[in-house]
Amino acid sequence: MTLATEVLAVDRDRLWGRLMEMATVAATANGGSNRQALSDDDAAGRALFGGWAQAAGCTAETDEIGNLFVRRPGTDPEAAPILIGSHLDTQPTGGRFDGVYGVLGGLEVIERLNDLDLEIPNPIELAVWTNEEGSRFQYSMMGSAVWAGKLGLQQARDLTDVDGISVAAELDRLGWNGTRPARPSDHVAAFELHIEQGPILEAEQVQIGVVTGVQGLRWFTIELGGFPAHAGPTPMAGRKDPAMAMAAVVTEVYRAVAAKGEWARATFAQFNSTPVSPNTIPETLTCTLDIRHPDGGVLDEMEKEMRAIVAARCDDIGVTHRVTLQNDSAPVHFADEVVDAVERSAQAVGLSNRRMISGAGHDACYVAMHCPTAMIFVPCEAGLSHNEAENITAEQAANGAAVLLGAVRRIASV
Ligand SMILES: [Zn+2]
Repeated sequence: MTLATEVLAVDRDRLWGRLMEMATVAATANGGSNRQALSDDDAAGRALFGGWAQAAGCTAETDEIGNLFVRRPGTDPEAAPILIGSHLDTQPTGGRFDGVYGVLGGLEVIERLNDLDLEIPNPIELAVWTNEEGSRFQYSMMGSAVWAGKLGLQQARDLTDVDGISVAAELDRLGWNGTRPARPSDHVAAFELHIEQGPILEAEQVQIGVVTGVQGLRWFTIELGGFPAHAGPTPMAGRKDPAMAMAAVVTEVYRAVAAKGEWARATFAQFNSTPVSPNTIPETLTCTLDIRHPDGGVLDEMEKEMRAIVAARCDDIGVTHRVTLQNDSAPVHFADEVVDAVERSAQAVGLSNRRMISGAGHDACYVAMHCPTAMIFVPCEAGLSHNEAENITAEQAANGAAVLLGAVRRIASV
């Protein structure tokens, strides 16, 4: 049998059954899951997954930050492994699919290869990254960040939750303190399968998102300084009112960002003023601004325009201003050959597809620093995620896993 040109389906019922079974581990009242990183519930989810992986003939290894790697051997001792990864931890009121789908979809690829006795030269390593969500221990994509060298191992171990419990203590308690070094080895390519977490695929009725990269983002604080005075006797003209300047800034920044196309984003939040009084013109008014775009050059333009708008609108009425960059995360561009493998696989399986950018961060962002990487998205209901109502269909789950299976075979040339 030559399988090279044959499209392989996956076992939809097995994949769906496992997604539903995983969702029973720390299920929430409204149909979601609460398996926060490094908790007993997270460990219970991993134990369930580990049993399935072992039954599928995989070996398992844990690295120094608790990332779990299960491995299907390849036939060529020289061939580098293909990496598939995502996460099993959830938000406190998380859904059933964010992360979980990528792990169990990866396991389904291994199961399907086993079903067919299809040996491939490359080992397949399926990674369960530690603490992707960053809710209990506040560093998103922590495990993959340590693996990639973006975050120091000790810094990660020192992170604490609200009760003062450290990552290090939990790694010890759970026995996740592995001996495998938390750093990249020689993977030939990497994939992450994920729900879209946005509304585009569903709205366009497209079955597969071929993800070419991840938005770059910059976080700013904006601090405006006015002159406090009585809200009643002080005429509107001539006030040094930071709220007036801010109103113009917000309006103009939204307008400028809208002109930057489909992927540009701007989000103002965390407005605070002092003094805490309803009848005094504020002395200070601060907020945060999150801007995003997949192109670093456009992000530069967005920042420059925003700074010019703040300066002009504040100078108009004599309000002082300070804009501080707090966080700068560069756009991620996935590897052409891995993106192509996903796209050609989707076409071969006969699924409608489009290239797109991820608006959210994923472990794949850090993996891509060291290894040619791409992501596969499937639509989710109403674009909803980080919510107990997060939903996909069994069909959609099977579609994404079939595309992943085809893409893995393309990389392995089998
Ligand atoms: Zn996720």
